[in-house]
Amino acid sequence: MDAALVEEIPLLDLKTQHRSIRGEVMAAMERVIDGQQFILGPEVEALEREVAAYCGVPHAVGVSSGTDALLLALMALEIGPGAEVITTPYTFFATAGSIHRAGARPVFLDIDLRTFNLDPARLEAAITPRTRALLPVHLFGRCADMEAILAMARRRGLKVIEDAAQAIGAERGGRRAGSFGEAGCFSFFPSKNLGGYGDGGLVTARDPDLAEKMRVLRVHGMKPKYCHKHIGGNFRIDALQAAGLRVKLRRLDSWSEARQANALDYQRRFSEAGLAGKEVVLPEIPPDRHVFNQYVILAKDRDRLKEHLRSRRIGCEIYYPVPLHLQECFRPLGYQEGDFPNSEKAARESLAIPVYPELTGSQKERVVGAIREFYRGKA
Ligand SMILES: *Cc1c(COP(=O)(O)O)cnc(C)c1O
Repeated sequence: MDAALVEEIPLLDLKTQHRSIRGEVMAAMERVIDGQQFILGPEVEALEREVAAYCGVPHAVGVSSGTDALLLALMALEIGPGAEVITTPYTFFATAGSIHRAGARPVFLDIDLRTFNLDPARLEAAITPRTRALLPVHLFGRCADMEAILAMARRRGLKVIEDAAQAIGAERGGRRAGSFGEAGCFSFFPSKNLGGYGDGGLVTARDPDLAEKMRVLRVHGMKPKYCHKHIGGNFRIDALQAAGLRVKLRRLDSWSEARQANALDYQRRFSEAGLAGKEVVLPEIPPDRHVFNQYVILAKDRDRLKEHLRSRRIGCEIYYPVPLHLQECFRPLGYQEGDFPNSEKAARESLAIPVYPELTGSQKERVVGAIREFYRGKA
């Protein structure tokens, strides 16, 4: 078949999603533009209330990005020079980049390959007298082992900041991502499950004083007007983003359910194709709510499989090809290849395939068929 004639299956199909909500989003944006209130104001406050309720926390502060959510949480908790923050090397760069920008030192700990999340069994050994916080990531939409992480934090007097950028609505033991730690950091980057129309983010908090401090730091530490007790930054989310995100939030549960249904369906299709547990290792579907921001397999001969899928016009991506302890900018931290074998193996073998809510049965059939074709010859 002529490859050019085959319909592309993107890794994420935002255009199809947009068609289903276009009228409401445009009306919401028009309301903001006609009102000419672009900075903070009622749309931002409403989004904060709605996301706080959605996550089961009393407070939320809308910010400029997921990256700034992490930075703001660290600043408000006064985690800076001299402090160590324990996190995972297998995540998007912003997790550790923000720790460094706050002036603290990222201390990496390997992951559990079954969950792609921090392996809490390794925590104890990594804690030093300088450790101030644990910063787990709920990677790909699955909550980290928060029972173990919170127990360790309590025992050693540490703060917990959740990087929930990929995990809005994910649950563990009936609690939602962002409700476990002192602060929960979310991103509204367009490819996240609740994606905006540009950059945006949010921090959840249980402590009203911490939430208030973040609100003040979000506007240059200014309170009252033109008086600065602390130095903050411009970390505000736009009212236009908030208005669009509120429309999407109402659909988020149905989109997350569609992602879960796709993951379950992949499980069946990969098994029927005789691939599961052999050439590819599928992500576990845990008893708790996994929201599948990404559906990531570990695949033999991953780089060639990726080229094969792309030649068949199937979107796929490597999350993440270089673990953070091996990034050039973190060389001064003194890590080496071999330090975190699970993270390094994940970096070598992981491949994200389409799992977006609008993905159809025939599209999934083509994805699995193309992978079977790669390993077994003609499908
Ligand atoms: C997307 C992401 C971020 C950063 O969010 P931005 O809104 O892009 O700044 C941080 N951590 C993780 C795990 C992410 O996936």
